[in-house]
Formats: sequence, structure tokens, C-alpha cells
Amino acid sequence: MAVPQNRTTKSKRNMRRAHDSLVAANPNECSNCGELKRPHHVCASCGHYDAREVVAMAKDVDLDEDAA
Ligand SMILES: [Zn+2]
Repeated sequence: MAVPQNRTTKSKRNMRRAHDSLVAANPNECSNCGELKRPHHVCASCGHYDAREVVAMAKDVDLDEDAA
């Protein structure tokens, strides 16, 4: 098994981790429904992109409906 020859100093370790922070998401408002959506992605709630529907959304499924 490979073993590090030298101990990583706190300074080097912290310098490496300086770029590890997560960046916050930057959502935009959907121009069709107003929901927050990821930039350059199809709206997850209405399926629109660039003011037209590109993904047909399934109609609401009634779970209480009795399947006879
Ligand atoms: Zn939308």
C-alpha cells in the first residue's frame, strides 16, 4: 500500500481546501409559470424553455381513484 513520504502541513492542507467550498445555486424565475428554475434548463414544473413547451408534463394522477 502506498504511504505518503511526508506529512502534509496544516498550511498546505488548508491551501488545498481553500477552493473546496460549495457555491450557492443561482435559480432564475420561469418566464411561463414563475417557479424558480436552473438557468439554461427546462422548467421542472411546467416543461417550458424559452417561452415554449418542450416537455409535455403528465397530468395529475388521482391516487384516491379506485381502480376497479
Ligand atoms: Zn415553468
